Amino acid sequence: MTDSAAPRQPQAFAIWREAQDTRTRSTLGGIYYPLAWLLTWLFSTSPMSQLGLGLGIASLFALLLVLRVLHRLPSEQSPEAMQRWLNRQWGLILFTALSWGLIHALVLSHPLLSSAATIATLSTVAFGTAMGFNFAMRRGRAILALLLIYLPGLLVMAQAGGEQSATLMTLAAYLSYLLLALNRSHREYHATLALELKLLEQQESLEILSRTDSLTQLGNRHQFNSLFPVMVANAQRQSAPLSLVLLDIDFFKQVNDMHGHACGDACLSAFAERMHQVFRRDSDALLRLGGEEFGVLMPNTPLEQACQLAEAFRQELVKQSFDIDDNCLPLTASLGVGCFDPQRDHDAAAFFKRVDDALYLAKGMGRNRLQLA
Ligand code: GH3
Ligand code: MG
Ligand code: MG
Repeated sequence: MTDSAAPRQPQAFAIWREAQDTRTRSTLGGIYYPLAWLLTWLFSTSPMSQLGLGLGIASLFALLLVLRVLHRLPSEQSPEAMQRWLNRQWGLILFTALSWGLIHALVLSHPLLSSAATIATLSTVAFGTAMGFNFAMRRGRAILALLLIYLPGLLVMAQAGGEQSATLMTLAAYLSYLLLALNRSHREYHATLALELKLLEQQESLEILSRTDSLTQLGNRHQFNSLFPVMVANAQRQSAPLSLVLLDIDFFKQVNDMHGHACGDACLSAFAERMHQVFRRDSDALLRLGGEEFGVLMPNTPLEQACQLAEAFRQELVKQSFDIDDNCLPLTASLGVGCFDPQRDHDAAAFFKRVDDALYLAKGMGRNRLQLA
């Protein structure tokens, strides 16, 4: 139901969807105006005597069709750009509607064209029907277009009186039906759109949930797995430094054993909170990779800078213990830090392993320390 290129923000999505629908429907509809005119003209009493008029009007509708087709959707998906596009496209739709309405009136009143009046009237009914059912996303504009298509012909019929009165009354009755149908189509279109928006919203929140660790609210392993290769590829393409810090809390099992699992959970949340206080840049991705293991992905960050922050974090842990449920828990962590190096790391997995090895070296060397990869 939803397109992968669609904007995610609800307001932008709604107008994007409307512009897509308007474009598809108006391009298809535009083909039938020149066709209806050619049929009307060619089946009139003496088309060759009206050559200039015939070709002139055919060219007008052909031009309007070309303008509709060439009027491509903006590449920029902002609601403002989409709204401007819609306004211009509706300008073309309304101008086409007015042109047809006037031509229908001309055919009805022109002695050499009136033999094709049935074709023109049937086309008016067809265009009105298409307007009522296909362009209901904007009710006001669609009603205006419907009236522009219908009213000029109805006025001529009203003036002519006589036999035309029966057709006039039938057309007026059908017009009232079209207005009701347009109203219903409008409600249905917007109900479907609301449903689509709700689906989009649910998709969005499911996606966030699936990428978030519920205990710490940091990104989870799944988030890391999708983010890490992309960041490595970006770093490679832009020759920009990408640093990775891996952190593992020391002797965390003892916290659980001594104070209980709930206290351990509270520690993990507080640990994540501390990470936020030190790794503060919007571009830093803070993640819980599993258990008591954490990671920070730092795009555009050289090794020295990443080391400084990681070491500041380690020292902060040493300085300030965690107060959980009246327990004062001193926690330390071992850290591995590395910067992606295309000479050494032939892919993201190799880079990760290098930093992970450094972390294990830090553990082996006595914990509560930072090891360069
Ligand atoms: P080391 O210094 O070698 O890392 O020792 P450690 O005890 O931290 O490491 P080990 O791998 O032996 O144990 C990790 C512990 O982390 C065991 C497990 O109970 C605890 N843990 C993992 N996930 C959670 C969690 O979600 N909540 C709690 N409370 N504890 C967890
Ligand atoms: Mg540990
Ligand atoms: Mg561990």
